[in-house]
Amino acid sequence: MLLDNWTTEQIRRKFADVFGHAPEIITFAPGRIEFLGNHTDYNGGPVLGAAINRGVWVAFARRADSRWRMASDYRQGVLHTVDVAAYEFVKQCGEAAWANYPLGVLSVLPAYGYSVPDGFNFLATSNLPVGSGLSSSAAIELASALAFIAVTGRHCPPDILAQIGRSAENDFVKVPCGILDQGVSAFGRSNHLVHIDCRHNQFEHVRLPTDVNFWIFNTHTKHALVDGLYAGRHSECRQAATLLGVATLADATFGQLEAVRSLMPEPVVKRALHVLGEIARVREAIASLAEGAVPRVGKLLTASHRSSQKLFENSSPELNMLVDSLVVIPGVYGARLTGGGFGGAVLALTGQDFQAVEARAVGVHYSHRFGAEPQILQLRSGEGARVLNKATHLR
Ligand code: ADP
Ligand code: MG
Repeated sequence: MLLDNWTTEQIRRKFADVFGHAPEIITFAPGRIEFLGNHTDYNGGPVLGAAINRGVWVAFARRADSRWRMASDYRQGVLHTVDVAAYEFVKQCGEAAWANYPLGVLSVLPAYGYSVPDGFNFLATSNLPVGSGLSSSAAIELASALAFIAVTGRHCPPDILAQIGRSAENDFVKVPCGILDQGVSAFGRSNHLVHIDCRHNQFEHVRLPTDVNFWIFNTHTKHALVDGLYAGRHSECRQAATLLGVATLADATFGQLEAVRSLMPEPVVKRALHVLGEIARVREAIASLAEGAVPRVGKLLTASHRSSQKLFENSSPELNMLVDSLVVIPGVYGARLTGGGFGGAVLALTGQDFQAVEARAVGVHYSHRFGAEPQILQLRSGEGARVLNKATHLR
């Protein structure tokens, strides 16, 4: 169900409709976009992300018995419910697989010093498309974790919240994601990007002008061999680091790469050039934003895409066509594939001249060549994961 926004009152009513009483707490965690820094995370480099003004709400109340009752209406407004005995950490499958995200969070809470509630009613509501590269998985993890923790009156700092979400996804759901998704959802701030130093897991805010918009054009395409392709890129980057004699590619310079490139297979040189280029572009984007030079930042986004296209070779005809169409439109500062690539979505950074009419025209143009229109979303930067509302009788 994709409404523009849910009010806490609407969430409270939905919860009461499902469970027959009011929630004790309502939390929200946003989705995120990868703004710049492609495949830099596992190479020890920096990445820039932005929390967005869409995400997942969790409404929650403890129960006296030892049942965990979880419901979500994330699929076309149909309510999916899962009811398990407390502490039964059995991985769910099929229609119930979504519950692995809150279950995963519960399974890792004790390792971070937080208690697990004995029994509860839980409702997740979302205005974030799932599987569209906007990290709905991190959003449900963080909104769940905050509800489980804050209902007991305890505080959770954003870096720990991000780690809890990532552990749930890595260790329980078994998706080997980096810290980008959860880190940005936890640290998000309106009119800011989140800069992550992936080697040290350090987070900083980078101010964004208030008059820019993000547009996502989701192709809903995915290379059939995407998992193998990611693994291949990982190992090429590792190979490059080994040949350069550094622990991670982020430790190398263009000069060092030049000196040994004749000893390296050509694809390995190209992957390393891309990663070093992305690291340089992230740094340049931060410096440009400090000067308010948004057009320069847009050019860096487009340069990132061209590097993906030619060096990392993780673009696709669909993504290239969207970028080519977008970058010639006045009001578009720049555009690039966002996320892992080999399909997925394009991000455009725009000013106020670029509006729904222009976006739609790009979609129609795309459909003439590829048959279907992309999903188009206009997004703005938003605040990170937070408690929205807590019943007053609680501490
Ligand atoms: P992405 O994180 O890019 O959206 P993922 O495949 O990593 O894609 O995560 C999507 C999965 O997360 C969904 O299939 C579902 O299992 C779970 N999920 C996301 N949002 C919700 C929600 N509001 N309610 C229940 N499950 C959700
Ligand atoms: Mg995800």
